[in-house]
Amino acid sequence: MPRYKDTDASAGQGYFLPVNLRNQLLPGTFEHMLNEIIGTKIDISIFDKKYKNDLTGASAIPPVILLKLVIYGYSKGQNSSRKICKLNQENMVAKALTGDMDIHWTTIADFISSNGEEFKEIFVKVLMYCNELGLIGGETFATDGLRLPSNASLENSGTKAQLEKRLGVYRKMAEKHLTRHLKKDESGETVTEDEQKRFEKRQRHLNQQIAKLDNFISNMEDKKGKEGQALQSNVTDNESAMIHSSKGFIQGYIGIAVADEKNQVIVNAEAVGTANEGEHLAGLLDGTIKNLDESGFIPEKEKKQTALCDSNYFSEDNLLACEERGIEAIIPDVQEKRRKDADGNKKFDVNDFKYDVAGNKCVCPNGKTLEYKGTPTLRGKEYDKYQASATDCKACPLFSQCTWSEKAQIEITQGRKLLIAKNTEPDGCGSMCNQMREKMATEEYQAKYSRRIQIVEPVFANIRYCKGLDRFTLRGKKKVNGQWQLYCMVHNLGKCLNAYSEKKKCA
Ligand code: SF4
Repeated sequence: MPRYKDTDASAGQGYFLPVNLRNQLLPGTFEHMLNEIIGTKIDISIFDKKYKNDLTGASAIPPVILLKLVIYGYSKGQNSSRKICKLNQENMVAKALTGDMDIHWTTIADFISSNGEEFKEIFVKVLMYCNELGLIGGETFATDGLRLPSNASLENSGTKAQLEKRLGVYRKMAEKHLTRHLKKDESGETVTEDEQKRFEKRQRHLNQQIAKLDNFISNMEDKKGKEGQALQSNVTDNESAMIHSSKGFIQGYIGIAVADEKNQVIVNAEAVGTANEGEHLAGLLDGTIKNLDESGFIPEKEKKQTALCDSNYFSEDNLLACEERGIEAIIPDVQEKRRKDADGNKKFDVNDFKYDVAGNKCVCPNGKTLEYKGTPTLRGKEYDKYQASATDCKACPLFSQCTWSEKAQIEITQGRKLLIAKNTEPDGCGSMCNQMREKMATEEYQAKYSRRIQIVEPVFANIRYCKGLDRFTLRGKKKVNGQWQLYCMVHNLGKCLNAYSEKKKCA
């Protein structure tokens, strides 16, 4: 059996070794590039105007050092200020980047949370450098959003009415708690020191909750949705939203990224506190055009740019927004699959029913009558409701093409319902949505759309799993947006590494 030297003795052993900090930054590594380009190739003088200590006050830690440390920390999956601070205390590479400067975690936290606007500008400067290295293609972009929780409590969400109800519950709980304690006092039962402390702690907590909720409710107005319905507000961070994610409902933000096809460089990044990312497409397109322009990228005039978006962005407004900007949109309709039955036949929609004005009723494709059943209001919109009889639908040969319900024909107890929105034009042929549906049915557009996953999903995989961003650690849109821009910046700098090293070799 071969014998090897025993290494156990050196495990966990501390050493005094002479360290040359500069030698820790090995050429060809991310940290070496970071040290070389931040502050030189990437101008960060924007931070200077924030420091007012020219004549008096203590010297500040240079922002260039802080930025290098934060970017390095994020690239190593350290997304809290305390962890980044620890990294700077224990990691030789981090020490080399900061010149062995002793930086308190509160300084790091303050730098990240108070420079949201500045990070936006630095993001463009990084983009400028990406363009200098020839990493931007500028032809095809893919857009998607990463749904992450932020520093806000999901339990503290609700409409004004819901929060008022919760306040009442808290008040009752506080009252009950106090009464129970007073009763104990009156009965002459001895209260131990521990019990007294527990009582005071609980009472303090309940009073704080009541005061916080009361203060919030007295200053709030319900947020309104697109159709006028009341949306949930949040007591801890009212700019965040209750978002449906793969892990259920979370309270947080959607980090949206627009990635360029050539090298998956993020050309625009924005964190939004809304449940639906689709409503931001027009702003994202404008931001992308502006960022590319500021980064010095010159698009080829004869080539039309293409935006690949998932079905969350499918709407007439978004398709129009793309057309107005001269961008070809490729966006599938998520309902398209549901619009076909098991045999691939198109399911009936509102256009397949004939409206009988005189009788105020509808006639279905099977020739049966749908009677008028009133005008319900759904999400602030008025609809005319018509309904067929269950007997007709049960015996109908077109049933599978008519209903979207999963229920079997024999199980149905009510006939097919039809809702027609009042005062709105139906989405008839010729609308941009229909044109897009027709395009998406062709192989050419299917092939084009399949590129979306290859362009944008690796970007999120890198940020989410390699860089470890599993939640935003801040509150408020401005701060969260700053943090998102920083992560996207880290991703883009990672993309620069190969081209930078090649350039260095050639120089
Ligand atoms: S399922 Fe009912 S409403 Fe639909 S086509 Fe048949 S009879 Fe008409």
